[in-house]
Amino acid sequence: MLNGSCLCGGVTFTVSGPVPGPSVCHCSQCRKQSGHLWSSSHVPDADLTITGDSLRWYKSSDLAARGFCGTCGSFLFWRKAGEGHTSFAMGAIDGPSGVTLAKHIFTADKGDYYTIDDGLPQS
Ligand SMILES: [Zn+2]
Ligand SMILES: [Zn+2]
Repeated sequence: MLNGSCLCGGVTFTVSGPVPGPSVCHCSQCRKQSGHLWSSSHVPDADLTITGDSLRWYKSSDLAARGFCGTCGSFLFWRKAGEGHTSFAMGAIDGPSGVTLAKHIFTADKGDYYTIDDGLPQS
């Protein structure tokens, strides 16, 4: 079981069940919303419990929505319509997560101001 929260504590969540190795997303939407990169893992919706009135969803495309705290702005969740899974921000996990980064995604969209040199798979 993992616990997570936004910066102000207005949104909290718990994750049960196995947590896949997180990815680091380099797409321009994640970079804009997070300020740099966004690392997340994902679980079936049934394994994620979210509480907090300040949670807001921004529909970033016809297919996907991005969940964030309307009070402090923390970017917490990403969800694709009809997929039945929700991605949650690794940076929002409180305490040790027990997982290790697995891969980089959307690296074709990465910014030109950094390099990826940790040897993990890139796509
Ligand atoms: Zn907050
Ligand atoms: Zn992204």
